[in-house]
Amino acid sequence: MDADTSAQLDTGTPHPARVYDALLGGKDNFAADRQVADAIRANPAGEIGPLANRDYLRRVVTFLAGEVGIDQFLDVGTGLPTSPNVHEVAQSVNPAARVVYVDNDPIVLVHARALLVGGTTSYVDADIRDPETILAHARVTLDFHRPVALLLLAIGHFLDDEDDAYGVVRRLVDALPPGSYLAMSHLTGEFQPEETKKTEAMYKAQGMTLRARTKDEFTRFFDGLELVEPGVTLTHRWRPDALDRVPADTPGEQAPGYGAVARR
Ligand code: SAH
Repeated sequence: MDADTSAQLDTGTPHPARVYDALLGGKDNFAADRQVADAIRANPAGEIGPLANRDYLRRVVTFLAGEVGIDQFLDVGTGLPTSPNVHEVAQSVNPAARVVYVDNDPIVLVHARALLVGGTTSYVDADIRDPETILAHARVTLDFHRPVALLLLAIGHFLDDEDDAYGVVRRLVDALPPGSYLAMSHLTGEFQPEETKKTEAMYKAQGMTLRARTKDEFTRFFDGLELVEPGVTLTHRWRPDALDRVPADTPGEQAPGYGAVARR
């Protein structure tokens, strides 16, 4: 870890990437993150939701790289490396697939340098609220004259309404060439409104943002795009397959996240 990075690495304050890593049973988290994770895990959704999201990530990338034939991925909100990562899934289908990873957590940067970068993958240390910086870097590795898949998986709920969540996504999508895809997943509070409000308040108290959205609010991110079958569903019901750890009939209370994929 270089001096720049360790200076920014505030381990006494929880960070979304590290809390999520703790929920997935990873090792790249600190006491402050584990404290939040333990509180979230008091609800079964805290454990099952992240697994359902990782299953969804694998199926979405397999679908886009395989059936659709996309070979360029822009993954914003990468998270700490959790195998299989996007490039592993994409390159298992198409070894030539290129991936640009983007995150704003300095610890993700350190791990990405070690595990994610090389050959056909690169990493950008940037904030999603600054889409122009992300796009400028992405253009170095990706060819914006050919379709790109923009992955915004489990990141939208870290954008508050004041962050102009819809505008940020729109600016990224508008830069993509025709034939590109947007894939998202997002926490919803529809199944457990009271518990979700408490979790949102806990994040806020710790200096983080969490903003669950309803199905309608989630669907708005796809305005003007063509949703692919089966449209907006709970993540574990989006084209489920035999490798899933979270079965499709799991109740929404246990895996409260919406997912959808759409074509530009
Ligand atoms: N996409 C992965 C990881 C999701 S965790 C998955 O679906 O499994 C959410 C990630 O978004 C974290 O790594 C966090 O650091 C990142 N993130 C949160 N807010 C961000 C922002 N404003 N800009 C860039 N990354 C952000």
